[in-house]
Amino acid sequence: MLLLVSTFLILISLSLRGFAKEKILIESFLKEDQTTFLWNILKYDLDENLDNELQIYNMLDKDIFKASKLQCQILKDSEDTSRLVAVLSPNSLEASLILQSISTYLNVSYIITSWRPKSLLPSNVFNLYPDADLLSIALARIVKSFDWSAGFVILYEDDASLLLFQEVLKLQEFKEGMKENHVTMHKLEIGGDNRHILKSVRSISNRIILDCHSSRIIEYFKQAQEVDLLSDFSRSFFLTSLDAHTLNFGELKASVNITTIRLFDPTSASFQNIVSEYFPGVPAGQIKVEEALMFDALNLIVASINQLRDQGVKFSGKALDCQNDSPYEDDLGFLKAMKKVKLEDTLTGPIALHNGKRDNFVLEVIETDMPEKPIAVWQSEFPDEIHLTRNATEREAELQRRMANYNFIVTSRTGEPYLVEHQPEAYKNNRYRGYSMDLITEIAKLINITFEFRLTQDNTLDNLINDLVEQRADLGICDFTITPLRREKIDFSMPFMNLGIGILHKETNRQEVDNLYAFMRPISSRVWFYLWILSTVTSITMFFVARLAPREWESPKPWDPETKEHENIWNLKNFFWLSVGSITAQGCDILPKSVSTRVIVASWWFLSLIITNSYTATLAAFLTAQKRDVTIDSVQELAAQSRVKYGLMAKGSTEQFFSNSTNPFYQKMWNTMKNEKPSVFEKDNNAGVERVISTKDGLYAFFMESTGMEYQMERECGLRKIGGLLDSKSYGIGMPLNADYRHKINSAVLKLQESGKLMQLKDKWWKKEQIGNPCKRNAEEQSTALALSNIGGVFIVLAVGVGLAYIIAIFEFLWHVQKLSLEEHLTYMETIKCELKFACKIFTKKKRAKPLPSEPSSSSRSSNSPPSELKSMFSKSMSLMNFQKEQESK
Ligand code: GLU
Repeated sequence: MLLLVSTFLILISLSLRGFAKEKILIESFLKEDQTTFLWNILKYDLDENLDNELQIYNMLDKDIFKASKLQCQILKDSEDTSRLVAVLSPNSLEASLILQSISTYLNVSYIITSWRPKSLLPSNVFNLYPDADLLSIALARIVKSFDWSAGFVILYEDDASLLLFQEVLKLQEFKEGMKENHVTMHKLEIGGDNRHILKSVRSISNRIILDCHSSRIIEYFKQAQEVDLLSDFSRSFFLTSLDAHTLNFGELKASVNITTIRLFDPTSASFQNIVSEYFPGVPAGQIKVEEALMFDALNLIVASINQLRDQGVKFSGKALDCQNDSPYEDDLGFLKAMKKVKLEDTLTGPIALHNGKRDNFVLEVIETDMPEKPIAVWQSEFPDEIHLTRNATEREAELQRRMANYNFIVTSRTGEPYLVEHQPEAYKNNRYRGYSMDLITEIAKLINITFEFRLTQDNTLDNLINDLVEQRADLGICDFTITPLRREKIDFSMPFMNLGIGILHKETNRQEVDNLYAFMRPISSRVWFYLWILSTVTSITMFFVARLAPREWESPKPWDPETKEHENIWNLKNFFWLSVGSITAQGCDILPKSVSTRVIVASWWFLSLIITNSYTATLAAFLTAQKRDVTIDSVQELAAQSRVKYGLMAKGSTEQFFSNSTNPFYQKMWNTMKNEKPSVFEKDNNAGVERVISTKDGLYAFFMESTGMEYQMERECGLRKIGGLLDSKSYGIGMPLNADYRHKINSAVLKLQESGKLMQLKDKWWKKEQIGNPCKRNAEEQSTALALSNIGGVFIVLAVGVGLAYIIAIFEFLWHVQKLSLEEHLTYMETIKCELKFACKIFTKKKRAKPLPSEPSSSSRSSNSPPSELKSMFSKSMSLMNFQKEQESK
């Protein structure tokens, strides 16, 4: 490379050999190929009559004494045969200063091509490097254009850089004496191990300005890579070195955004033409700023010489002596000529050093992965302005391109229903499912990105925030509440869910007991219903069975054996009375006598016994529960008592709400919670819910966000919400401060909101998806009331009893019919028919003691009974029928 030797001195002198031909003497300590461009300039651009020579003296860094000695020696050697016109400064500041001072004494132009702190330049000094003041303004304007309003870190290696950053530091804003944005400076140790500094930067800011010599940028970046400072999307580096564009950052495989500035565009045709002509074999992209400035400086000298020669000025020899008593005069007017010259065809833009300073220059701001197109251009003419070269669409496209090539790291924590590790053995994202996973999947589809879920350490929110602050992750998705405190450290997307703090407590029976119809509660409504149905059905059954049962037909006058009529006292009314009397444990003054009816009644009694006792026991339990359960309806009631302890999840936004509250009421609650022993704080919501459920008699209530409460109450029926919500807030997606992609995430969340997808996702994970067991809130099985399942057996007993009673009743009936048919000499079928007909006439309560056949039967006919008997039977039967008719008509 051209300027490998870090410090060198070039003295250009025109040496006069005789009077015919002027000569420029060139001596070099560098290899010939390294000075090719200098040769070329002098060969092409100086008057061909001149016999040119360039002297380049190699010097050791910072060797001030040798430098001054060397310069004086050169002057002494040249005597009065040559004319020293310019001294090109070495790039060591110390050596440069001594040479500058000698040159000023000799009144020889002294040309600088590197950054010098702001100072008043003596009239013989020309600095082609951008003016320090303007450069400082330029840097500040460029940094401002980045919108790093949240603060940034400046890494520098030389204290002189503090001057360079004086304008940048003014970007720090203060409000009421407090820093609004944090601008911090850290000094790097040249050649040392700076990992600890770079590591500490992680948690300070994701915007870094690196001010160092271009030769050490890659070294610092390698160290940064080792502390994982280059892997994230939202970190940005701004390199102030004007040579950073010559470096190859590709090998670092960094995901960070690297921006730098350059003084010239190496891709422009004019630049490339000059380079191919004067720097043969050197790629244009590799030309460093000092080489370019050196080239321009020589051109400036040459142009000045030519200008003077055009004016007829002769470069007569002049012996210069460092030991001279008084300063020399600029007898040729060379310094004036230098100030007048305007150069257009240069490498670093138009040059006109009217006051020795380079106050006319342009800086291009480029991203190292897209150097072809600058993102902004700053011009010294309009120092307070900057021209952003990319329009919104181009910026968007560039961001999209970067995002598409990047795998977003999503930090999260497990917790139902947001994220559940359902397949621990699976690979990466496949291990998890839940609301958060679905949400980012939808967002990723909309903005075309890929992502990888990573659980934060210890599953805590503090670590999750740290992941974002230190840029270990690009997005944080979980039940992540947006709070002002967190907003200072990270950014949040638009809210994707709204909520508030509520109080979770155990379900108590109080409300039902207070109710006017609370007496119904010990038995479930279904069982009440069945009881009424059954009592009706059983009464009707008993009625029919009683009509069939012969023993239920009795003489109304038992003392009179001649009574012809039998009476059945069992009408429907009586049976209803019996069933009600039994179930209320009051009994009944009349009771059935036949086996069949007794079987039914016994079964009913059994059912009544169980129902009555269960009802009594359950009612007692309800009433006891009322006394035992603490009745709390609001946060005020909760705060006013001390029996029920209340707590919350530690280190979450709910804790922040109480601890930061200025409301004396919440402050009091917070103090109570802090002083409770054992602690009322839980590590997460699940533990809190578990504690609410497991604490006996509802003696623990838990402050929890309404979303989590809704979810838990969908699954755990024994839970209830006390009162309304204490506040109103939202969940958002966490991002590092000022992340470039935050607008993209915001618009994706808005789109999901508009399309109703957010609602769908909530519905899916709160109601439909089977994480946990859904609670069938009104199902009898869950109720404390006496449910059908508890007493189903009794109903079976009753059903069996009724069935049995029917069978017995049939047997009784048949047996009765048999007896009657024999007694009354009627056929069996006739008797059955007759008796059944009668039984079906439900409003007939009396019957003859013995029936009469309606017509002679074949069987009777076939019998050997005398005709008179038949006659009598017939008449009996007729009379029975008539009797029934009479009864009916009554
Ligand atoms: N969502 C809360 C947070 O982001 C955690 C739960 C809570 O504090 O109740 O801090």
